[in-house]
Amino acid sequence: MLIPARMSEAEEQRWVSVMLDKLAAQESKRVLGDAELAERAERLSDQYFDGRARPSSVRWVTNQNTRWGSCTPAEGSIRLSHRLQGMPEYVVDYVLLHELAHLLVPGHGPRFWRLLEAYPRTERAKGYLEGVVAAERLPHLPGAREE
Ligand SMILES: [Zn+2]
Repeated sequence: MLIPARMSEAEEQRWVSVMLDKLAAQESKRVLGDAELAERAERLSDQYFDGRARPSSVRWVTNQNTRWGSCTPAEGSIRLSHRLQGMPEYVVDYVLLHELAHLLVPGHGPRFWRLLEAYPRTERAKGYLEGVVAAERLPHLPGAREE
């Protein structure tokens, strides 16, 4: 670590602990790799769908800007938009579960939503994502990007 000169020992200690906190915070916000994403999908499938949804691949894609996730049931492949990176874990888990559920039930009929009822944060995650979309459509909302 590069420590600025002219720091007292106490200042230096404090600075080091601040930097370590920052590193720890970055670490916890670290993006999951594709392998970890696949592992997570497997865990979620085990926990909520008795392991019945078995994707052949789960990966991040950057070419998906209008959908959070997509899947191709014939291939068993699941893709998540990179826009989810940095969102809370329960939101990413919801989108993963949503796509896993499509491997079992196509479309968004009652059978589909009954599967997702098993996940306790479905409504909260849907609300979060709706909020993100709404914020993007309100350019003058404080904190929104001007485009
Ligand atoms: Zn869907």
